[in-house]
Amino acid sequence: MRLSRRQALTSTAALAAAPLLGPAPAGGAASRAEKQAPSFYRYKVGDIQVTVVSDGRFTFPLEDSFITNAKKEEVNAALEKAFLPRDVFTIYFAPLVINTGGKLVVIDTGNGALAREKTKTNGMFAENMAAAGFDPRAVDMVVISHFHTDHVNGLLTADGTPAFPNAEVLVPATEWKFWMDDGEMSRAPAGRMQGLFKNNRNIFDAGLKRKVTPYEWGKEVAPGLLAVESVGHTPGHSSYVLSSGSGKVFIQSDVTNNPNPFATHPGWHAFFDQEPDVAEKTRRRIYDMVVTEKLQIQAFHYPFPGLAHLEKDGDGYRVIPTPWNPTI
Ligand SMILES: [Zn+2]
Repeated sequence: MRLSRRQALTSTAALAAAPLLGPAPAGGAASRAEKQAPSFYRYKVGDIQVTVVSDGRFTFPLEDSFITNAKKEEVNAALEKAFLPRDVFTIYFAPLVINTGGKLVVIDTGNGALAREKTKTNGMFAENMAAAGFDPRAVDMVVISHFHTDHVNGLLTADGTPAFPNAEVLVPATEWKFWMDDGEMSRAPAGRMQGLFKNNRNIFDAGLKRKVTPYEWGKEVAPGLLAVESVGHTPGHSSYVLSSGSGKVFIQSDVTNNPNPFATHPGWHAFFDQEPDVAEKTRRRIYDMVVTEKLQIQAFHYPFPGLAHLEKDGDGYRVIPTPWNPTI
């Protein structure tokens, strides 16, 4: 039997590869993984250790009403420019676990156990936190940035009991006052806003029995963690400066959502910004400060792990993600 040159080359390649691959499984290819690896990422800010823990993502059809002051075609053009698919939008979620001065501090809690069952793609904070080696019973403090479902619903387990049973829960004083005010609740427009009020009463009344500690801006809420006013997205929306030694990072919460298109187009108003003009002013003020000070940011809704620097780029901002560090 004579081999063609092509057959000879192929069989030589197959022989060369054989020792690396081992015996081929009978009947075909190796099985494929069904799941991504648990997503968490560690880094240091001075003596403080930060673990970014993914809560997952949410992908939904892009509606005309998603951005209230830009047409869907403009939004699609911005998505395509960022090599993202048209007509859909993805939001990522990433709470933090911070080991600061002997205290274990969680910042925001993700979409919660019920969302995990319903969506399959988010509400993953609890399982990813466990994969990162943290026991929720060991958490000393939970700091909440604002009262939207993707930040507070992880405060409760699937059966409605506190997910961090030994933790003090710290909430922005202004946020607490707004959402727990019965007058504000009675005046809330039907639909989304009424739903948010109802959800917050369920979390903080039924679940936590109002056992929270309100905090003020300009004060340290945990060792090395300074609360900063960044209102507009909600009335009491808060960000943080985390610092230790010469290390510093600005934890922005929801100053922007996904940077494509909200950092590239800071003037675009998403429907979920409660006071859109105030939110835009805050966004530009904070991003200009971050650019001037060359401050690293940690962003809840950026693609994982959401650690980045910013640069001014025309009317908007360019995001430069921090390279993944395989060691700590
Ligand atoms: Zn959010």
